[in-house]
Amino acid sequence: MLKIIEDFSERRRLEKSMVTTNEALKRQTTELQRSNQDLEDFAYVASHDLQEPLRKVRSFCELLAQMYKGKMDARADRFIERIVDASDRMQALINDLLTYSRISRRPLVLETVDMNQVLLEVADSLRNQIAKSGAKLRWETLPKLQAEAFCMSQLMQNLVENGLKFHASGRHPEVRIWAGRKGDSWEIHVQDNGIGIESAYFERIFVIFQRLHTRQEYRGTGVGLAICKKIVERHGGRIWLDSKRGEGATFHFSIPAREAA
Ligand code: ADP
Repeated sequence: MLKIIEDFSERRRLEKSMVTTNEALKRQTTELQRSNQDLEDFAYVASHDLQEPLRKVRSFCELLAQMYKGKMDARADRFIERIVDASDRMQALINDLLTYSRISRRPLVLETVDMNQVLLEVADSLRNQIAKSGAKLRWETLPKLQAEAFCMSQLMQNLVENGLKFHASGRHPEVRIWAGRKGDSWEIHVQDNGIGIESAYFERIFVIFQRLHTRQEYRGTGVGLAICKKIVERHGGRIWLDSKRGEGATFHFSIPAREAA
């Protein structure tokens, strides 16, 4: 009898400590969500407010160039060019940071998104780059997804743009896109014939600001793939890649195949 009572009180003690642990975990999760939200709000406000002074710097530099180019020494001309170039890079960074923080600022509202239409728009926005590099962009019939249209455009734009950008010298870039149904999800694949990536970097490249190249080699902000990851995970999917250095890369992402509401 005494044994039964001991067992019972031990169980009660354990249950009580589990409830306390659960509550502590819930509190920690709420606290973490709140501090993440605070950080995103901060990134949004900071990037938004940085735009105005930056526009001023750029426009005064343009004025300087218009009024004094060739009237000062060559070094002064070069300095002005470098300020304009730096402010363009900062503008690109701010735009990417704004996109990054905008993604999770609103609740997820799904609609039917025709991925063929998304690709047409992406191809149109990259037409100059495609023509200049003699690139080929091809895609097979893609599905309609239940997703956010803005997010799907951003996702495809970043993946296709990277496929065109990271191409090996002396080779015309080729990007091919196709899709397939896998269980409860659609999988979309974006393959290029570019410089490829060593497997040691497969995780790192999705972290914000992580780049494997200097901006002299390839321009960029290091935010594109972090945006892609955030978008895919927001939709309940995942993103990954296959690649070997020098042999191109294939990025894959999945999006749950939901019924239209
Ligand atoms: P960005 O393109 O602005 O550098 P991303 O976040 O899009 O930033 O990509 C991070 C890094 O991953 C790139 O700097 C590049 O080193 C590598 N990367 C991304 N896509 C490719 C690709 N298709 N082929 C080779 N390397 C890539």
